[in-house]
Amino acid sequence: MEDIIKENNYPNTCPYCWEKINPKKLAETKLNEWWGKETFEGIFTCNNKKCNRTFTTLYEHSFFPTYTIERNSNIIYHPKLKIFNEEIEKIFEKFCKIYNQSFIAEENQLEEIAWIWYRKAFEFLLKDYLIHNRENEEEKAEIISNTSLTYLINKYINNNKLKEIAEKCAWLWNDHWHYLVKHTEQDLEDLKNILDIIIHFIEMDLWFKKYSKIQKK
Ligand SMILES: [Zn+2]
Repeated sequence: MEDIIKENNYPNTCPYCWEKINPKKLAETKLNEWWGKETFEGIFTCNNKKCNRTFTTLYEHSFFPTYTIERNSNIIYHPKLKIFNEEIEKIFEKFCKIYNQSFIAEENQLEEIAWIWYRKAFEFLLKDYLIHNRENEEEKAEIISNTSLTYLINKYINNNKLKEIAEKCAWLWNDHWHYLVKHTEQDLEDLKNILDIIIHFIEMDLWFKKYSKIQKK
């Protein structure tokens, strides 16, 4: 079969060394077809001798109205994302999304950005958990609008262990937000472990509520 990705459509910069290049095409494969549009992947090797890296480029090829080949973008490799249990994914959809985007940032060596976004994930988890447990509309409104997590933790969490660990999580993250960090002995891994404890607590609480409804017959 004739090649779809022709030489004049080859990428002219390398996503690793960012030099102007004339890459060598190793292969091309069709990914999918949708409403007259086909998506192709081209695999190239950089011809800069100091680089020599192999990379993939996406192409979109449409039949109608004109025959076009376009180089779309270089593919970004995503790490394997964290899979949360079904109930957590359902109730805390935003938390799961922000958590995994923070994880992608972390895996791409954007540690400082990951710090901030894991903190945002924690806020969504906590607030959605507190809202999920409440019927009272006034209380829900306060949880949504109040920006002090420590205040909300103290007012709305009854379980002492969860209260203690959530509070630590809030002030450790707060500390890392500032120019001068006081808690230098805790790193991002520690904070993620603490966040894991909170996730497990919430999972346990959801399961307890589900199964404690069973009545003896
Ligand atoms: Zn290169």
